[in-house]
Amino acid sequence: MRGASNLQTMKPQPSVLSPQSFTQQRGAQPPSFRSKRFISVAPREAPCGLSCAGKPLAGSIQTTCPYCGVGCGVVVNMEEEGISLIGDKQHPANSGRLCSKGIALADTLDNEGKLLYPVVNNRRTSWEDALERVASGFKKIIAEHGPDAVAFYVSGQILTEDYYVANKLMKGYIGSANIDTNSRLCMSTAVAAHKRAFGADAVPVCYEDVETADLVVIVGSNYAWAHPVLYQRLAAAKKARPEMQVVVIDPRRTATCDIADLHLAIAPGADAYLFNGLLHNLRREDALDLDYVEAHVEGYAAAFAAAREVGSIPKVARICGLAETQLSEFYRLFARTGRTVTIFSQGINQSSSGVDKANAILNVHLATGRIGRPGMGPFSVTGQPNAMGGREVGGLANQLAAHMDFSDPASIARVARFWNAPNIAQAPGLKAVDMFQAIASGKIKAVWIMGTNPVVSMPDADRVRDALLGCELVVVSDCVQHTDTTACADILLPATGWGEKEGTVTNSERCISRQRALLPASGEARPDWWIITQVAQRMGYADGFSYTRPAEIFREHARLSGFENEGIRAFEISAWSELSDGEYDALQPTQWPINKHAPNGTKRLFADGRFYTPNGRARMVAIAPRLPAVAVDADFPLVLNTGRIRDQWHTMTRTAKVPRLNAHLPEPFVQVQPSDAQGYQLAHGGLARLTSRHGSMLARIQLSEDQRPGSVFVPMHWNDAYAKAARVDALVAPITDPISGQPESKHTPVRVESYQPAWQGFVLSRTRLELPDTCYCASTRGADYWRHEIAGEVLPGDWRDWVQTALGESAQWIEYRDAAMGRYRAACLKDGKLEAVFFIAPDHRLPEREWLASLFNPHQLEAADLAGLLAARPPKGADTGHIVCACFSVGEKAILNAIQEQSLASVEAVGQCLKAGTNCGSCVPEIRRLLERH
Ligand code: SF4
Repeated sequence: MRGASNLQTMKPQPSVLSPQSFTQQRGAQPPSFRSKRFISVAPREAPCGLSCAGKPLAGSIQTTCPYCGVGCGVVVNMEEEGISLIGDKQHPANSGRLCSKGIALADTLDNEGKLLYPVVNNRRTSWEDALERVASGFKKIIAEHGPDAVAFYVSGQILTEDYYVANKLMKGYIGSANIDTNSRLCMSTAVAAHKRAFGADAVPVCYEDVETADLVVIVGSNYAWAHPVLYQRLAAAKKARPEMQVVVIDPRRTATCDIADLHLAIAPGADAYLFNGLLHNLRREDALDLDYVEAHVEGYAAAFAAAREVGSIPKVARICGLAETQLSEFYRLFARTGRTVTIFSQGINQSSSGVDKANAILNVHLATGRIGRPGMGPFSVTGQPNAMGGREVGGLANQLAAHMDFSDPASIARVARFWNAPNIAQAPGLKAVDMFQAIASGKIKAVWIMGTNPVVSMPDADRVRDALLGCELVVVSDCVQHTDTTACADILLPATGWGEKEGTVTNSERCISRQRALLPASGEARPDWWIITQVAQRMGYADGFSYTRPAEIFREHARLSGFENEGIRAFEISAWSELSDGEYDALQPTQWPINKHAPNGTKRLFADGRFYTPNGRARMVAIAPRLPAVAVDADFPLVLNTGRIRDQWHTMTRTAKVPRLNAHLPEPFVQVQPSDAQGYQLAHGGLARLTSRHGSMLARIQLSEDQRPGSVFVPMHWNDAYAKAARVDALVAPITDPISGQPESKHTPVRVESYQPAWQGFVLSRTRLELPDTCYCASTRGADYWRHEIAGEVLPGDWRDWVQTALGESAQWIEYRDAAMGRYRAACLKDGKLEAVFFIAPDHRLPEREWLASLFNPHQLEAADLAGLLAARPPKGADTGHIVCACFSVGEKAILNAIQEQSLASVEAVGQCLKAGTNCGSCVPEIRRLLERH
């Protein structure tokens, strides 16, 4: 069944789950960085070793934020009256800082929307039944079609212990390597580049290096929004040392450019030309460290020759779409600055030539010897909280375990010996895109998806949905009940979520930290490691999966890392092989390698110039740059770029529960350069239909000079749970890098057309509504209300009937109709309080929503509010505009007014006046731009 939307599919969801929910207060957040949720917990029975049983723990608990790869430490205070949290001052990643998402974590802990019971074919069932069905289903398909007919698709959200047992079960016992992870979509390119250059997937630097560098180059990363706390650390370092230079290389002008001395708005996909050009220029300028190269590097002659092919600065500037002067300035800066860190992320990784781009970056660091020393090195920042942990255990289909590969028969034999594995896989499995294509073709007949939402996040997402709907057996374990992917499942297994589970994660600087349980599991949810081992036992592998607690798994993982290692593999945590359960519980953040030579961990790698290649030399790789696989043409003339926004995480399953995280950007949007908008008749605030060769979507048009002409940007987060037809990955081609298998998510040729339905409007209502006959509907939770942005192709006979269908009878009505102009407005009140407002118009020209939304507070409406209600005319000073500062709910108009009326001239002055920007700092770039505007 194609084009399923709003989670209605062939495998519909159960309606029988009755949550044993925590009571909670959902309302306006106090203007404080401490979030409060009031929680009472009913006792429950828990199997031994399964997180905290019965009641929440008391006192302060150190744990780790579950969102991005920065891996910030969090201190959660469990108090009589509820839970509050702050950044962990002791954690080396953040020293007490948190971003807007981290600060709001306590607001995501309630049971609303959680998957609480096992479900088979839409009916609640027991764990015993569900586990038995998963085990027998997989066994039957393996018996009939062989081990490669089954697959696991796992996630950088699960913990290292979960990852370890999933990998062991698939590769060691089932005998297939068909286990891949959503980290394939975010950092498999960096893994492949590291292995080519260093002989191991090892990030050389630590976070401190970024602060101590004299030049920080940020390539293909909106660091300010995707890694906010690292950005804050960099911004603070630059403030303390203004002479530090920051260069941003990105087709878009992003919030990261706020601290940039130089922004190179490079043509999409041209990065390898730019870095090859840099290498050639460094050589011409005699700015290489040839002593280092001769002592520690191989392959340099071929790499230099390939770089020379790229040509002179004018030629490189032309290919990159940059001014020669800008490019020369960057090359000069790089040549003269020894302490240089180059940060790279998805703009490099998500490309059909991403591995070459990443190696072009690593080449310049090796050629200048800028690696292994303080303030120097290439730095791949990972997107997910435990993408690195997955890399360590072998969660990618082409890795084996503990940094061992299928390319070496001795490694396969070693892992088989260590695991006592009866049937170890002998060759790499299918990478994510190939895996879902194999599901579509019927080659894979059973898939188990753990903690991820591929129907939203995979490229060619409509085909991924079709593949799952047609698959013989789809098992999904997740903590969320309704996602676009759980809607395709035959069996749903409730997994514990953040705050309920125990284990470890590794962040972008190789630092292993504990995630600790704060609360009992919701409903009947169980940790992923427990679910996997229970299935393994029922498949006949009890001997290899007899774990009773995560500490046991972690010790085995640590032992494998040191097993016959002798310094040949970078990843090693053998010093933790014999941790007691108590020591595991008390584990403090530490960077690997952690072994007998470095029992307290290792800040920085390659200080001795030795790498993990057979001869100990790093490898420079000859790069022949190439542009993206598919170019724009007359039918699809614009380049679609996808990425994150500031306050949402992945497919919004957690962050969209928090009103203040929805306030900044409440609707799916497409950012367009005004010159392109003019050419394609796109109006700011109107709706657009985006179409590629693979799918289409609707989004609100946002005009911005930040876009490069010819490029548009759409956030990756929206999905059917929050919007109709807004999954951007439905448009993205399943084209991948030939080495890493990472999709080209940053470069899809698209067409963008103005979309003009019969009517448009918005509804603000106290509860979420099912609105009839809409072709576009984006729903967002506010503090005391839901906001629905809507549009329809068919005009209802009578708007009043339409409203009543959506809302039901309401006690008190105020209405305004202008049939000639196609306008309708209605407000519904109960006991003097606002229940809902409906604003309908023939186009997108509608009033601002913020003041109307503020009327949904618990109080009765005042006469002045009532008077202006249907005119959407707020009393003077009552409209603060769209939210800029999520921590203190400060709006754009409030900031602009304060700037104007009080002659504020700096971010600090705005902070003193309104508090905006004084907590997590994520909104500082936006405040600075408001200051610039005025
Ligand atoms: Fe969490 Fe924000 Fe830290 Fe990332 S930067 S780990 S999202 S608090």
